Amino acid sequence: MQTSVTPTHCPYCALQCGMNLTPASDGSGSVVDVTERSDFPVNRGALCGKGRTAPALLSSQVRLTSPLIRSDGVLRPATWDEALDRIAEELSRTRTEHGPDACGVFGGGGLTNEKAYTLGKFARVVLGTSQIDYNGRFCMSSAAAGGIKAFGLDRGLPFPLEDIPKTGCVILVGSNLAETMPPALRYFTELKENGGKLVVIDPRRTRTAEQADLHLAPRPGTDLALALGLLHLVVAEGHTDEAYIQERTSGWEEARAAAMAHWPEYVERITGVSVPQLRETVRLFCEPESAMVLTARGPEQHSKGTDTVGAWINLCLATGRPGRPFSGYGCLTGQGNGQGGREHGQKADQLPGYRKLDDPAARRHVAEVWGVDPDSLPGPGRSAYELLDAMGTDIRALLLMASNPVVSAPRAAHIEERLKSLDFLAVADVVLSETAELADVVLPVTQWAEESGTTTNLEGRVLLRKQAITPPEGIRSDLHVMHELAARLGVEKGFPTDPEEVFEELRRASAGGPADYSGITYRRLAEENGVFWPCPADDSADGSAGGSAGGSAEDCEDATFDGLPDDPAGDAADDVVAATPAGPSPARNSAPGGVQEPGAHPGTPRLFLDRFHTPDGRARFVAVSHRPLAEEPDDEYPVLLTTGRVVSQYQSGAQTRRVDELNAAAPSSFVELHPRLAERLGAVEGEPLAVVSRRGRAVAPARITTSIRPDTVFMPFHWPGEGRANTLTNPALDPTSRMPEFKACAVRLERVD
Ligand code: SF4
Repeated sequence: MQTSVTPTHCPYCALQCGMNLTPASDGSGSVVDVTERSDFPVNRGALCGKGRTAPALLSSQVRLTSPLIRSDGVLRPATWDEALDRIAEELSRTRTEHGPDACGVFGGGGLTNEKAYTLGKFARVVLGTSQIDYNGRFCMSSAAAGGIKAFGLDRGLPFPLEDIPKTGCVILVGSNLAETMPPALRYFTELKENGGKLVVIDPRRTRTAEQADLHLAPRPGTDLALALGLLHLVVAEGHTDEAYIQERTSGWEEARAAAMAHWPEYVERITGVSVPQLRETVRLFCEPESAMVLTARGPEQHSKGTDTVGAWINLCLATGRPGRPFSGYGCLTGQGNGQGGREHGQKADQLPGYRKLDDPAARRHVAEVWGVDPDSLPGPGRSAYELLDAMGTDIRALLLMASNPVVSAPRAAHIEERLKSLDFLAVADVVLSETAELADVVLPVTQWAEESGTTTNLEGRVLLRKQAITPPEGIRSDLHVMHELAARLGVEKGFPTDPEEVFEELRRASAGGPADYSGITYRRLAEENGVFWPCPADDSADGSAGGSAGGSAEDCEDATFDGLPDDPAGDAADDVVAATPAGPSPARNSAPGGVQEPGAHPGTPRLFLDRFHTPDGRARFVAVSHRPLAEEPDDEYPVLLTTGRVVSQYQSGAQTRRVDELNAAAPSSFVELHPRLAERLGAVEGEPLAVVSRRGRAVAPARITTSIRPDTVFMPFHWPGEGRANTLTNPALDPTSRMPEFKACAVRLERVD
């Protein structure tokens, strides 16, 4: 039993706040107190309510403590051997009868790097299936695809958060971080204290927008036009940085021409943002020496999310921002390990180290680490929504970890039916989530404080979450689950249960790839406040391809689905380079607060200072144009629905809805609407209102506020049942990132008697 204080990290969002866990004084070892870690530079002593209350679930009565097997329609307790045997039998039978691709695997952005890595390896080596993806596809995939198109590399923030207060202006697009990651607000408060300006773009006047020097409230789904209109004004008013464009970019003429077709008055008509507001935004952004654009799910969760991100990056490139001090473009990743979870192989098209699955050199390198024939590795599979949509058709059995698509997937009622139509569903989780309720076998697994593992936060900072307490009797780790299943399916070796052993293999698998972790060790992570990737094992690595790990110019990742039939943009990132530290010499880019061994690479807090991660070292403009939503309002569905989060709940709510303090603060869904819209409908504050889309109907109490546009309603997406927002959302996919259009769909409102 552990009794001492353990420094570790929060289980929830991508900020990965540092916290100290103390076993409770009753000596049980099963409950801990939380205190802030002032030594950790990201949250600097602050925690939000979710992090502060996270231990409540460790000893909660609602926690799963035994495997469950469905029998006569009811989930009943079973032994671990019975449960694992049953899963192995069903996966084996499915593979034999229908082929390996009839077995699906679905992961989550909350899994540690070790688990995400092992899940990808399990799918490809043990099951031999191409059908694996994860819920991070629903989170930041458009930003990842946009970043790779422009810069040749996807790391959410290419600079540490500590750079934010030092810049001159931040345009924050579609992020309500005051609610989603409250400790991060401090960076923006300091920005303003230092004289910098904050522009917030959001259809709602959120708590974050209230902090802004300028708040723009565009119509949902028009961020692409807004960015193009701003770029038009940048050109027209002579704010372009011609020397930078000449020296560090390519593709400007095409992007410029596309932007010049978006006159400010035209953009005003599309977005609802006035021309004077557009001009003021350009002034605030262009006057200071340094400036940033940060995007989040608002502009990204659209069927044109990748192009929208591209348009914001164009604005940054045209004004000479990326790769300069305290400047550039970044994405605020959402899930706890949303960054690391997208780097090591649980994505449909990816191998560890952010390598491409269809790249022969990458396949050779990873196959050698795994001790298998490269030709035995399957090719790219379907994206998350497409995989879920195929359940019960050609996908007959699914192994799901750390995800709750019954609540979090778009068109959720349809996905719920698809899950029910599977021949077999196995779910590993800490609680009986709405998805686990549908399973044939449920496995109770360890939580954050009960196991060690690494995560990678929104800055690209790799962190060690240390085990603080002993898990309760009857609970095992996801790594144990994959080890046991692999053995039952005939693969005795290569699936260790010790996270550090897995990480050692991950280091070798990632070596030479874009996300190179080979220079990072558990010992370093325990001593330093995280290490930023890329961090090659050899400090003298010159960034050339073909290093000791066998990297090559083809050994890369593009976060796109090249070759899929409806992927007209899929060729845009097919020539990114890999295996480079992607930054200046270590001496110019030392890790803040880091203490490195002599000769060890310090990691790379700031990317692109000397060159971008493209073959010619130049960032690429993308020529994009405005296009409408996949589903515009019409007479039948005249209002736009947008969705998001509230401060006291996290994602599908599977964990936070089971914490009393959080549940008391945010017990259920609601429909936020403007008084003018409420008056037209006769809606009354607090009374139930039905929201109806082409995909279904949700009912929740009305919350009437002037902080939202009159043509738009908002629902948070944390709850199941009749208030489930994702019953309504549109699964129209971005052609490159395969991101569904969560953020805008057409609905009508009905009073409920
Ligand atoms: Fe920090 Fe996010 Fe955890 Fe809140 S939920 S304590 S912001 S990591």
